[in-house]
Amino acid sequence: MARAKRCPFCGHKLDEEGWCRNKDCADYIRTQTHDAEKAAESSMAKADGDSAQSDASK
Ligand SMILES: [Zn+2]
Repeated sequence: MARAKRCPFCGHKLDEEGWCRNKDCADYIRTQTHDAEKAAESSMAKADGDSAQSDASK
């Protein structure tokens, strides 16, 4: 079994992708950046030819 990795900055348990989820951690800014990039990617993918549907679904 793989042992959960821990953040080298705060010792918080990392998520399955290796990102620290401790909001008080100095490394959390990288997690946020990563999340923002991921969100931008998925929203771009959604906007690609699917923009009309998101209006209709509300
Ligand atoms: Zn941390």
